[in-house]
Order: sequence, then C-alpha cells, then structure tokens
Amino acid sequence: MMKGLCYVDDEKIEVREFPIPELEKDTDAIVEINYASICTSDIHIIKGKVPRAKKGIILGHEGVGKIHKIGKEIKKFKIGDHVSINCITFCNECYFCKKGHINNCSKGGWEVGCRINGTLAKYVRVPYADNSLNLIPDNNNDDEEDEDESCDLDDKDFLFVGDALSSGYFGVELGNVKNGDIVGVIGCGPVGLCTLICGKLKGAKLIVFDINDKCLNYAKKCKLADYYINPKNYKTDEELMKKIEEICGEKKGCDCSIEVAGTDESFQMAWKITRPNGIVSLVAMYEKNQEFPLPIMYGKNLTFKTGGVDAIHCDYLIKLIKEKKISTKPLITHEVVFEDILNGINMFKNKQDFCVKIAVRL
Ligand SMILES: [Zn+2]
Ligand SMILES: [Zn+2]
Repeated sequence: MMKGLCYVDDEKIEVREFPIPELEKDTDAIVEINYASICTSDIHIIKGKVPRAKKGIILGHEGVGKIHKIGKEIKKFKIGDHVSINCITFCNECYFCKKGHINNCSKGGWEVGCRINGTLAKYVRVPYADNSLNLIPDNNNDDEEDEDESCDLDDKDFLFVGDALSSGYFGVELGNVKNGDIVGVIGCGPVGLCTLICGKLKGAKLIVFDINDKCLNYAKKCKLADYYINPKNYKTDEELMKKIEEICGEKKGCDCSIEVAGTDESFQMAWKITRPNGIVSLVAMYEKNQEFPLPIMYGKNLTFKTGGVDAIHCDYLIKLIKEKKISTKPLITHEVVFEDILNGINMFKNKQDFCVKIAVRL
C-alpha cells in the first residue's frame, strides 16, 4: 500500500491508503514519483469547481520520477528512465491528437489527478505512456567530451514541464506571439510567470499585470517582464488605458493579451488592453461565467481564444532547460515532504509566506 492525497469530496481532502498501482493496459507505465507539485487546478478541484474531476481519486498532475514498470507496447522508455509527466493523457492517434489538440484527445485529456489517480503519491499509473511521458536525459549518458554544463540540474528543474511551463508556452502559442510583439500577461502566479518566460523566449515585449505587489516584485526580481503594472494604482480604467497607450504607441494596445488570472476583473482587462484586431488568449481556469460587453467591443475586431493546455512541446521545453535557455526553478519557493502535504496545500492556497510553487518530495 501507499499513501496518496485523496479528493474525498468538495472542500474535503485526506491522506489515505491506496494500493500501489499495477499496469492495466500494455500502453501503461508505472512511474515512481520523486517530486510532485501542487497546482492551482488542484485547488479548483478541491473547491468543487472542476466538473470533470472524480471524487475518491489521488490529486496531483505535475511530477517527475523514474519508470518503475512498463507495459508490453511501450517503445520509448525502459525501467529506470527519468521522466516528466504530462498533465494531459493522449493517444496520439485520434482526430484531435493528430492536429496537436491533445487536450481534446478522444481517449484521454486531463485524466491524471482529475479522473484517475494522480501524482501526489509514491507511484502513479500513466496511460499511453509513450506519449504522456517525456524523457529527462541523464547527464551521465552524455558522450560529449566537453564538460556538461547541465550536470547541476536536478529533478526539480523539470517539475513544471508537463503542466505550468507547458501552459505558459500554450498561452503564448494561442496568442500567436511573434518577435517584437507587445504582450500583456494578466496574472503573476506560477502560470503567469511561465507565460512570461515563454513570451521572452519568443522575443516579445512584456507587460505584466497583477493586483498583488509582492507577485509583481517577484517577477521583477526574476527580470521576467519589461513593465510591471498593478491596476490598483490607477484610479480609473481610462488612466490605466492611458498608461497602456503610452507603452504601446500607435498600436494603442497589446498585440495580444494572455489572461491567466481567471477573475471577472482580469477578464475585462484582457480585452480592454488588447489593440484592435489583436488576440485575447484566455488560458485561465474560470470558476464563473463571464460577461461579453459586445456593444462596447464592436469595431475592435478582437479574436478570443480559449484554452486547456495542449502540452505537446515537453521535449522541446526539456531541451531548453538542459541548455539553460530557460529555468523554472526560481518558482519553487518551498519544499515539503509528502507527510506535510496538508500543510503544503494550505500554504499554497493561502499564498502564505509568499509561496509561489511547492516541490513535494515523495
Ligand atoms: Zn495544473
Ligand atoms: Zn487522441
């Protein structure tokens, strides 16, 4: 048996005993988790705001570990391989998978830690493991003679590849961000920070918005954006828009806004700061319906895109981390052992002690 963090009912979680998972299909793998993390989506599930989620499952959809068992049809991995887990389970064969829209896979989607047992336990069963896992190349396997610069990287460097970092990359892709674009990122939590990292990668000029100065200062400390704006420092929308126009010049707004905060205010702000004919990329997980003031929007000719992450660039993101072109390690402000998971959840939920991301050691 093993211990896992169980979503018992809305607002009710418990550490419970679960059997160690076994292979169910030949395309499954069992991964022994070294580190998992807590995501805002876990908190949404706990609050009862994710209709897709099943009660009684183990939470957690971010994790890194070692392959413990593999099904007969697994081709890409062997026992002992180091892997990062994709938050999306996908078959890679259906109509949506073939187009790269794995979040809508007919046989998968967000399964791990939502509809089947997740990563907040020592072992997890991963369906379609050839697709839903990504190899973290071991440093000692490197044949190169040069001293390998990446040897100081560890599991925690790859912890967010399969979810938070992929979500940031997805938001940027959804917004069709190109070199030189002005991009407004609303929300400076973990996915917001990852969005900034990926926006920078694309060569965008970045404006980040958050109503929490601590979050903004954190992004500033990590030098992730070009402008840091707390909308609360502006008395009216008009004043804020004046500031945006000042930054954006003749475009009068951002080429694209990426909304990751998920509140009523942040939704309204997203379309307001976007220039005419721009893209509003909505990656946030909303807990409520939002209002579209179409009469005021008329003539602005905006494109709205909504998204649950299509995490199809994990190998590329792992490569960038290995090459030290990006790093998400600064997001880990806290580390807890699994025995302290309930404290960890509270700390993350209430942003205690300025908690950005927690690495949970299994
Ligand atoms: Zn998540
Ligand atoms: Zn599929």
